[in-house]
Amino acid sequence: MEELTGEPGVEDGVVDQDVHLPAADQDHPAVTRLDDDLLEALRSAAEDAVAEGVSIGITSGWRSERYQEDLFEDAVDEHGSHEAASRWAATAETSQHVSGDAVDVGPYDAIDWMRRHGADYGLCQIYANESWHYELRPEAVTRGCPPKYADPGEDPRLQR
Ligand SMILES: [Zn+2]
Repeated sequence: MEELTGEPGVEDGVVDQDVHLPAADQDHPAVTRLDDDLLEALRSAAEDAVAEGVSIGITSGWRSERYQEDLFEDAVDEHGSHEAASRWAATAETSQHVSGDAVDVGPYDAIDWMRRHGADYGLCQIYANESWHYELRPEAVTRGCPPKYADPGEDPRLQR
């Protein structure tokens, strides 16, 4: 496991300012290190949302392993055990944020817009308990989004 030296920062994917698409700060690691296809889908969704007066904020995107480890440790502290924490946070090994395959959006009107229109861009909510967490499911454009897991604890990808 990587040794933590100081608090995770912007270079670890920490979002310390308002980051909105499509006009996002182009060199923000949380955004630029996302998977290319996910980012492209997000940009086109955000352009259409802006036309309807809704700005899609990115509250979290790509995260370094050490940042994700930090978040998981915080969740263990908060929820009391590794098992309880895994309903709310993934480890660095399994997080879709670490691989650049997930984004958290906000504020509420952006979440609401994505809930109504995300599937048209292949952007799907994955967990019932995380209305803000989106991943790319290209087949959703024609078939709609797959059923949601109740929470990350049910996601077989996170069982490692
Ligand atoms: Zn997320």
